[in-house]
Amino acid sequence: MEELLAIGEFSARSSLSPRMLRSYAAVGMLVPAAVDRFTGYRYYSPDQLGEAKLILLLRQAGVPVSEIAGFLKDRDPGWLRRWEGELDLELTSRRTALAEARERLGVDAWWPAAAESRREKESGMEPVQGSGSGSRSGSKESVAGDGTLTWGSASACGAERSSNQDALLVSAPLFAVADGLGGAAGGEIASRVALDELGASFSRHVATGQPDVETLVEAARDASLAVWRRMEADKSLEGMGATLTAVAVLDAGSRPRLAIVNVGDSRAYLFAGGQLEQVTHDDSVVQGLIDAGKVQPEEWRDHPSRNLLTRALGAAAVVEPDIRLPRVPAAARVLLCTDGLTTALDELSVAAVLAAEPDPDRAAAELVRLAGDSGGTDDTTVVVVDLPIPA
Ligand code: MG
Repeated sequence: MEELLAIGEFSARSSLSPRMLRSYAAVGMLVPAAVDRFTGYRYYSPDQLGEAKLILLLRQAGVPVSEIAGFLKDRDPGWLRRWEGELDLELTSRRTALAEARERLGVDAWWPAAAESRREKESGMEPVQGSGSGSRSGSKESVAGDGTLTWGSASACGAERSSNQDALLVSAPLFAVADGLGGAAGGEIASRVALDELGASFSRHVATGQPDVETLVEAARDASLAVWRRMEADKSLEGMGATLTAVAVLDAGSRPRLAIVNVGDSRAYLFAGGQLEQVTHDDSVVQGLIDAGKVQPEEWRDHPSRNLLTRALGAAAVVEPDIRLPRVPAAARVLLCTDGLTTALDELSVAAVLAAEPDPDRAAAELVRLAGDSGGTDDTTVVVVDLPIPA
């Protein structure tokens, strides 16, 4: 029996677990070359490693075990052609279903031209951590021959905070805010990790094609996983987390389309024609009470459960974000903000600033200043993005 391999060694060399080997043996594949009569121990011939590799490959191709067993009996190449044909059919029907879903969502039309996407990539990521009372100037970027995208941002540490746990990302066509949870160190790290990974993941996906809704959703999932992994790696950060609200301007030019993702109670608003419309829905206990009719919408700022979030990055390995694909009015501004703004200022005050201050950077700075002056004690972060005006 010297030349035979015990099941443990065969398993290690074939990448098939003993449990899989037992189940394959049950349908007549990779039947052990020998079994110890007294111990029941199974042994395999080194010659069986080739067959094990073939089975592994077919399993990776998604071929059912019962069909592999049939194939191994006659090894007719016709089986492979049939499996390939089935794969093509399945891919086609899945693609058709996705295209139909896209059509239903009204996101079928008009993707940005390759040249525009390249230009946006070349602009590079520009992550900004708000700190102190300073605000970061927005820059202006041409994203199409017939329209421009401009933005501004500001972030300030709350009056009663030792450090700013909010973070923001401005990197056209991607913009985001995050509010760190879980104590000073953890919160600051969580919001930064979330937005770093959001930006990096979005760039990676853009590098392989045009940005679309899924690009943003994947980036949000990656951000969630990054926060989780950071916490797993450092037990002192247990309980840290972050909100995330991000917008991707998917189409350049005169017909901008937006994809917005959200986890937690930072918010995205659209401002157009003097009207401020909240796009995101808070993941908070209070919002749940409002939805259930138990709390009046105007009472949420004073509610004792105001600080309880029902979802946050870091609460699980991957948190699925809410996705919004709002209709975009002409000449709209997008406002992203953390709860430091919305708890301090009502929507009328916010709308008044957005209506009065055409420069997005000054509008963002003014909103943050007003929140502090209104008695807000939380970190406050604002990003204002002006969408291209239709030609
Ligand atoms: Mg906050």
